[in-house]
Amino acid sequence: MHDPEALRSQHAARFGAQPAIFAAPGRVNLIGEHTDYAEGFVMPAAIDFATLAAISPRQDGKIVLYSENYGEERIFEADALPAARNGHWSDYPLGVFAIFAGEGHRIPPLSLSLWGDVPPGSGLSSSAALEVATAVALQSLLGIQYPGPVLARLCQRSENEFVGSSCGIMDQFISANGARDHALLLDCRDLSYKLAPIPEDVALVIANTMVKHEVTGTEYTSRRAQVEEAAAVIARHRPEVRFLRDANPEDLQKWGSEMSPEALKRARHVITENIRTVAAAQALVQNDTRTLGRLMAEAHRSYSQDFEASCAEADTMVEIAQKLPGLIGARLTGGGFGGCTVNLVHADQAKPFAAALGEQYAQATGITPQIHICHASDGAHRIE
Ligand code: ADP
Ligand code: MG
Repeated sequence: MHDPEALRSQHAARFGAQPAIFAAPGRVNLIGEHTDYAEGFVMPAAIDFATLAAISPRQDGKIVLYSENYGEERIFEADALPAARNGHWSDYPLGVFAIFAGEGHRIPPLSLSLWGDVPPGSGLSSSAALEVATAVALQSLLGIQYPGPVLARLCQRSENEFVGSSCGIMDQFISANGARDHALLLDCRDLSYKLAPIPEDVALVIANTMVKHEVTGTEYTSRRAQVEEAAAVIARHRPEVRFLRDANPEDLQKWGSEMSPEALKRARHVITENIRTVAAAQALVQNDTRTLGRLMAEAHRSYSQDFEASCAEADTMVEIAQKLPGLIGARLTGGGFGGCTVNLVHADQAKPFAAALGEQYAQATGITPQIHICHASDGAHRIE
């Protein structure tokens, strides 16, 4: 898919130096939606779309960034890097430099060429791939190596603090720590994690509904507030419950009547989603694809009916998938109100599955979806 050799020779021709090359993948979340800020569980997989970063040192005091995707170069003085964002793609690598500088590292003069095939803005997290690729490349020049979870946190901070987008830790975490043929069960409370095998003959079919319903920031804010309201009600009776991560379905039976009907539904999604996410990892470990598929179907229903974060198009896409041969499980993935569905599909049926899904979705909605057939891939690494 990506050709490191082409990037290597283009970097050498442009900058007159042989680079070291690194790759960091995009991701898809298999299950665990809106559980992160309740200190719960998510289970993403890294995919075989990635950002490549080619890096070499310079002698002239400059930092030169080049994006092959944008065909654009940006030049900075290494000892006078911008302290604030510009609203330009260079914010992502500059944010990583700023956070590393804040950790006490001197950012040396360097040339950095970037190229990626993670489609930007499609919910596969090209931004995290770019940050993590930049960070591992920078580490090689600095001669340091942070543990993967620490590196992920630094990259998340660069997106939060420098780029100014309030993402959680999941995207950077899986891009830094993913493993080929595995999903990663992440505990958002303490960032401990466990790899769960995805059978080699299972493909991840990611289907973009091509709709993103503008729900303004208020939907997200109100969901969060309702989740917090529910946790506060339970905490009146069980003070040890700080987040819905600590609550269970019995709490809702006992005290759900003290919550607003919305808070009760949102809490039911988050509490059951945490249980499903842990169970889904267990199902993968036991190679129990039936259970996995059932959990994904329940997760979609819960996301759609209790969390009310799906939309007609995504529901249609999941319903179509559920009738197609080869499907193990399908659900809407990501923040909601549109975006992509993730489908676990027997690999030998992935191509006809993707074709039929595309055709039937177009018939039903009049929209031609983008569909990618992916496999669970390694997290960030050097390409020799
Ligand atoms: P997502 O992370 O869902 O793909 P974002 O809006 O968070 O979408 O990030 C996309 C942005 O990341 C792009 O608009 C661009 O600024 C930056 N980006 C991603 N890949 C590259 C690349 N190869 N070169 C330069 N910028 C990139
Ligand atoms: Mg992003």
